[in-house]
Amino acid sequence: MPHSPAAAPAAGRTDASVAEVRELILAGVAPLGSETVGLAQAGGRVLAEAIRAERPIPPLANSAMDGYAVRAADTQHGPAELAVVAHIPAGPRRPLALLPGQAARIFTGAPIPEGADAVVMQEYAQRRGEQVLLERPAKPGDHIRLAGSDVQAGQLVMEPGERLTPAHLGMLAALGRSQVSVGARPRVAVLATGDELVEPDRLRDDGRIASSNSYSLCAALRAAGAEPHYLGIVPDDPPALQAAFEGALRFDAVISTGGVSVGDHDWIAEILARLGGGRRQLWRIRMKPGAPLAFTQVGRTPVFGLPGNPVSSLVTFEQFVRPALLRMSGQRALYRPVERAVLAEDYHKPAGRLHFVRVRCERRAGRLYAIPSGDQSSAVLLAVLRADALAIAAEDATELPAGSEIPIQWLHRDDLREEPGF
Ligand code: AMP
Ligand code: MG
Repeated sequence: MPHSPAAAPAAGRTDASVAEVRELILAGVAPLGSETVGLAQAGGRVLAEAIRAERPIPPLANSAMDGYAVRAADTQHGPAELAVVAHIPAGPRRPLALLPGQAARIFTGAPIPEGADAVVMQEYAQRRGEQVLLERPAKPGDHIRLAGSDVQAGQLVMEPGERLTPAHLGMLAALGRSQVSVGARPRVAVLATGDELVEPDRLRDDGRIASSNSYSLCAALRAAGAEPHYLGIVPDDPPALQAAFEGALRFDAVISTGGVSVGDHDWIAEILARLGGGRRQLWRIRMKPGAPLAFTQVGRTPVFGLPGNPVSSLVTFEQFVRPALLRMSGQRALYRPVERAVLAEDYHKPAGRLHFVRVRCERRAGRLYAIPSGDQSSAVLLAVLRADALAIAAEDATELPAGSEIPIQWLHRDDLREEPGF
């Protein structure tokens, strides 16, 4: 097939909303599969099995304090003087039973001896040789952590699709797990396309620009738990692009930036049409920034042609690529939290496109304010750098005066939700 600029890079462009494109892309992707990893490597990974406790935590009743294990009944009538018959440090259980009138010196985490039903803190005990004087009565259960008081044997503790936080790892270890099944991390190829691009260390004053997208996207991939494989800069040359994309198909997903507009040098839609056959989609998404997006799937491998403008590529990654990769990792919650905030400045827009406004959020007197973080042009990264959220101005909105409420999507939070929230 000849590569001619007129050969329909723009053909088949479909107008679509953010929600429609998000759903169409997600409909095609599925979890990649799972692998078993050691606990020390499992932080941040996505759980691929249900975790049931095989044993209770704690395994035995143990002391929550340093002090004396007693029979509470012995302490009920005024100061009690008990015989100290044992010394129980934390460690394996030893056979021992307290008789009436006896106490055992005990330390935090040590097993409660048979017969004892309370621990008296050492602050309320006076040791006198082999005896101990207890000033206050103890109640049954005082300062005892019962077996199973954290987790009971058989209890369902975690479900597949949860992201493993430090607390998850502590719990897995406490349950006696040294390995865990997690979703495979998507290996993602990143291609920058454009004759004007150079690597940052080759930047000269010749009009070319550094491929910032290469680095922002690799970082965004890592933050999504994916494994970036940067394949470099490809010129706006159809055979070179074709070869680069074919090579990239050995990965689990492919992301390119640039070349999806309708200029004479915008080849990506055509290349994706060749790779993906009839499954290629080219959208003009009703959003700002980042309107054009090309997408196809070759077998199970999603291929995303993101726009070249630095802000557009990051925002389209965030809205469309990230949820897809999280689903491929097996994660259940795919979306950053959305909250309502008060717009701190007037915002005007024409109806017809949803705007993602880069904002900085501040809480003042209990209310969350969204303050635009700078120039909203899709080429200006500085406003993204200074933003912690994207305010979402709806497609049909036009006048948003200061003081009006607007949903904001947090950019860096990892407490994800199962619903997109807008
Ligand atoms: P394009 O979609 O190829 O027309 O690119 C749109 C704008 O994004 C142009 O100003 C490009 O120079 C710029 N651009 C494209 N790719 C990159 C990149 N990898 N890093 C930074 N800017 C880029
Ligand atoms: Mg270009």
